Amino acid sequence: MREFLIAGNWKMNLNPDEALELTQAIIDGYEMDQELPVQVLICPPSVFLAEAADIAYDSELWIGAQNVSQYPNGAYTGEISAAMLAGWGAEYCIVGHSERRQYFGESDSLINQKSKALIEHHIRPIICVGETLEERKAGRQNEVVSAQLSGCLQGITLGIPSEIVIAYEPVWAIGTGETASPEQAQEMHAFIRAELAKRYDPEVSEEVQILYGGSMKPDNARELLSCPDVDGGLIGGASLKADQFLSIVNTAFGLVS
Ligand code: PEP
Repeated sequence: MREFLIAGNWKMNLNPDEALELTQAIIDGYEMDQELPVQVLICPPSVFLAEAADIAYDSELWIGAQNVSQYPNGAYTGEISAAMLAGWGAEYCIVGHSERRQYFGESDSLINQKSKALIEHHIRPIICVGETLEERKAGRQNEVVSAQLSGCLQGITLGIPSEIVIAYEPVWAIGTGETASPEQAQEMHAFIRAELAKRYDPEVSEEVQILYGGSMKPDNARELLSCPDVDGGLIGGASLKADQFLSIVNTAFGLVS
């Protein structure tokens, strides 16, 4: 059975004090029930990872990164390797976020290399896919997402439990206040699962968590998380406010208790 994963993407926000305060507020703000299938994850900027992991050590909160180098080590100024992230306590890492595709020219092939580097170090990549507004208006969303999946998953073999998470993030819904309707989200999530079933065993595809990302907020979380193929959320803006993030976490707990 798939668990919910509620993941916060802090992007390049907060100062050190604010980052630690928010981490602590999230830890203090929800009662983890070991019996319930909900995982909670924060992905702070890398400079805050080690300390956030320290604070979260005795809690049920998972810690993840937002980016990784495709290279294992060497003369790559400014880069951070998967081994370094693992050493800091990262268990997950977002890859292929649309902001990285758009502003840093990341391709599916690069995302594929980064995902492989992460898997090698037992960090689960959260692989982001999603179409732009123009692509959706042209009815090309399935074609675009299918191509992204092909490129990002090239040569990655999966077992159970799955080593990867997919995040469907329609670019037109990220940071815009626009949200995919539950019908649009469910349709695409079911499509992604069917694509995974073609590439892998259907049993494996049933195990892969597929998150929705794009202006998920306390007031729309319930309807999105209620879709049968939506296994959680990748949350940007609302993850920077403890009360909003915790409200989404509690919605997920409410749906499974
Ligand atoms: C994101 O950055 O992954 C995201 C979904 O952002 P927001 O929730 O702000 O739309």
